[in-house]
Amino acid sequence: MSESKTTLVTGGAGFIGSHLCDALVARGERVVCIDNFNEFYNPAQKRANVAALLRHPGFTLIEGDIRDRDLLARAFEQHRPARVAHLAAMANVRYSIERAPLYVDVNIQGTINVLDAARSVGIENFVFASTSSVYGDTDQFPFVEEQSTDHPLAPYPATKKAAEVLGYSYHNMFGVNFTAVRFFTVYGPRVRPDMMAYTVMDDILHGREITLFNGGEMYRDWTYVGDIIKGVVAALDTPLGYAVLNLGRGEPVRLGDFVSVIERLTGAPAAVRAVPAPPSEPPRTFANVDKARRLLGYNPRVSVDEGLAHTWEWYCAFHQPNQ
Ligand code: NAD
Repeated sequence: MSESKTTLVTGGAGFIGSHLCDALVARGERVVCIDNFNEFYNPAQKRANVAALLRHPGFTLIEGDIRDRDLLARAFEQHRPARVAHLAAMANVRYSIERAPLYVDVNIQGTINVLDAARSVGIENFVFASTSSVYGDTDQFPFVEEQSTDHPLAPYPATKKAAEVLGYSYHNMFGVNFTAVRFFTVYGPRVRPDMMAYTVMDDILHGREITLFNGGEMYRDWTYVGDIIKGVVAALDTPLGYAVLNLGRGEPVRLGDFVSVIERLTGAPAAVRAVPAPPSEPPRTFANVDKARRLLGYNPRVSVDEGLAHTWEWYCAFHQPNQ
């Protein structure tokens, strides 16, 4: 561990990025966050995510876009980070379906921009947020990093896969240490409002119907954000040359069961409307995390019951801050 090092976190005001900034600052590191506070979801939520960090002397916020190469060059030159955690992206599989050009701009060109800025200051380690959706619709369970990821089901995972392989080129050409961490459906406090943990809580509270793909007969390997952050911090601490690692929990949960846990927390039943799953949605995700365990000491511990309880606590505090 390197107390005085600077880590640059792109997307550091977002759901996962802000937890990462918290964790790094808490252990005495300097953190530079670049985020454009885009309107994919309410930027007020992102402002709230970093409100406490802004009072911390070790934290610097740069409001800017990773599509702006000059801004990146200035930020890297000024702060000379030792490591980069690159989390800024357009996320969400379904939103990407009609917006491939935007996803290519931000997730591919943006990643090249960050890689170029990083190598120009001789970065020690580059960690990239990839996704379990690169595995597409496969019958090979659990997912291991070496299996095919050649058939992503939508632009979002296709752009993430492209960024993973560009990382290899930068490793090969310029010796950049590059680790792609494939996150499996992350949830927890500050969860994005387009994600199921949030939408189900919100729909139940507002008496709205919940749309459930295949009537809940699908499985996701939900992973608590605290576990993910431990994995990302370990990846930042461990240059591996070039590596791709699953960060999941390894215990897929039925969508219907996930909703039942939220019903218990909210104390109200969900009005469920079953709809067929769109072709962008694989029926099951399931991580094999042996490689991350071996190389990073990654050890996900938080159950969906516990993790959703923390999420619900945050949801209530976020929406009723004075109660
Ligand atoms: P998020 O949307 O909350 O965070 C992304 C942040 O990046 C946002 O704060 C956004 O404002 C910022 N951003 C987007 N475009 C930008 C740009 N052009 N320039 C600067 N900043 C920009 O999403 P998240 O759920 O925290 O996801 C973080 C990363 O993890 C993303 O790369 C996402 O693809 C990946 N991921 C997330 C999950 C999940 O379950 N949440 C799963 C797999 C992968």
